[in-house]
Amino acid sequence: ASAVSARNLIKTYGTGDTEVHALKNVSIDFAVGAFTAIMGPSGSGKSTLMHTLAGLDTVDSGEIVVGNQTITGMSDNQLTKLRRQRIGFIFQSFNLVPTLTAHQNIVLPLELAGTRPDEAWLKEIVGILGLGDRLSHKPHQLSGGQQQRVAVARALLTRPDVVFADEPTGALDSATGAEVLSLLRRSAREMGQTIIMVTHDPNAASYADRVVLLDDGALHGELLDPTPQTVL
Ligand code: ADP
Ligand code: ADP
Repeated sequence: ASAVSARNLIKTYGTGDTEVHALKNVSIDFAVGAFTAIMGPSGSGKSTLMHTLAGLDTVDSGEIVVGNQTITGMSDNQLTKLRRQRIGFIFQSFNLVPTLTAHQNIVLPLELAGTRPDEAWLKEIVGILGLGDRLSHKPHQLSGGQQQRVAVARALLTRPDVVFADEPTGALDSATGAEVLSLLRRSAREMGQTIIMVTHDPNAASYADRVVLLDDGALHGELLDPTPQTVL
């Protein structure tokens, strides 16, 4: 089964002389529980693809299905609701709220959705991520790796079907990056989460089950099972 399915996506920015074909007829399926890395040179359309799949940006034509819902054509309100219910985001820049503690940051998406956190699940995630003694710290009191782990906990707490990770290790040293990537892989393997990650880093991509190559707005082939991993 596919968690996310995209058919014939076309996205063009600007008109006339400034026209940029960011996505040129892209079709791709992401299987439930698969960890996929999207790679490609700067300007190849990676961010555009990820943002349109996540319903943060619209396509000119084509169809995107997330779970059993066709999101192309949805209203902004419907998209916001879908993102809150089914999608988690992890950004290069962590995007934590500086005035809130780690715990408050982690539960923020649930609070915004008006739901109470599942305390047992929260405890489990915090344990897996080794954040137990950091929950009352504010972001500036945490290392980069700890901040990204808080962002991962926030993304996983709502049990989203799909997690989009945009250069999640871009701001981390390689050891901390490796930790975060192992966790993402575990959440795919053990929790059946579908993970779609954009990265420039071949080493980061080697943690994925599948690596998709974008070039100039089009898919340019893919690597299956990039490298057998010894970590984890
Ligand atoms: P990548 O993430 O691979 O660097 P992007 O998806 O950001 O690629 O960009 C794909 C192409 O679309 C690039 O040529 C970029 O300059 C262009 N582009 C992206 N966003 C915009 C925008 N908001 N307005 C105009 N052009 C854009
Ligand atoms: P960039 O690709 O320019 O570095 P980010 O990765 O920080 O930017 O954000 C990418 C996109 O995701 C932006 O369009 C932004 O509006 C959106 N975004 C940023 N933070 C969040 C968030 N916490 N929840 C939902 N969407 C977000």
